[in-house]
Amino acid sequence: MPESTLTLLYALHRVDERLLDLQAQANNLDTGQKELAQAKAEQKALEALTAQRDQAKAKLHELEETARQRRAHAEKQEKELYDGKVDARQISAVQIDIEHSRELADKATAEAEPLRAEVANLTAQVEAATTALDEVKKSILRKRKKAQAVHVEIEAAFKEAQVARAPKAAVVPAEALAKYNAIRKRTGGTAMAVLTPNRTCGTCGMAVAERLRDAIHRDQITTCESCQRILIFPLSDSLL
Ligand SMILES: [Zn+2]
Repeated sequence: MPESTLTLLYALHRVDERLLDLQAQANNLDTGQKELAQAKAEQKALEALTAQRDQAKAKLHELEETARQRRAHAEKQEKELYDGKVDARQISAVQIDIEHSRELADKATAEAEPLRAEVANLTAQVEAATTALDEVKKSILRKRKKAQAVHVEIEAAFKEAQVARAPKAAVVPAEALAKYNAIRKRTGGTAMAVLTPNRTCGTCGMAVAERLRDAIHRDQITTCESCQRILIFPLSDSLL
């Protein structure tokens, strides 16, 4: 007895289901897109933090330089005073200048103090953010590598299923195959649906009328009234 058209179609459908599943798996591979977005945000935050640190550092350097220059100036003036190089009429003016220079130096030193702590704090933050970002980048690389390996596996399975499909399609009567392929094209997915024990379409849930069920029993190509897929009663795998 030749195999029923529906059984032959169903064997083909199973392969097509497998191909669709493999395609979905390939499309849903985790390539670290979420981590990539996270890395971009962290990179931006790190750049802002680094800029803030560099700004504080520059300000600190400026204050330290001011203090150094003012002290050097005061020392030079003092030396000139002791060496008697200052005109007697200028002595008091020079002393005032020395005092003023020392005041400015002390002021700059006092201002630099909290800034030094801020620079140290920001530097620690920059280091922590850099380490965190490196971790995210590493996890992206790990995910990509894994996704690539899985993709190779999926590709191999896909080729295998494609090879298995050809003989299954070859034995289906031409008219039935044409109908099956037209439905596949329309749904963009599967073309067959298995009836549930509740006599509904296993794909869309629509009730399947008795006359349709009778037609299926006579191996007639019968489509679901809702999703238009070719209906079939459940078959045991041994039949395929
Ligand atoms: Zn349906």
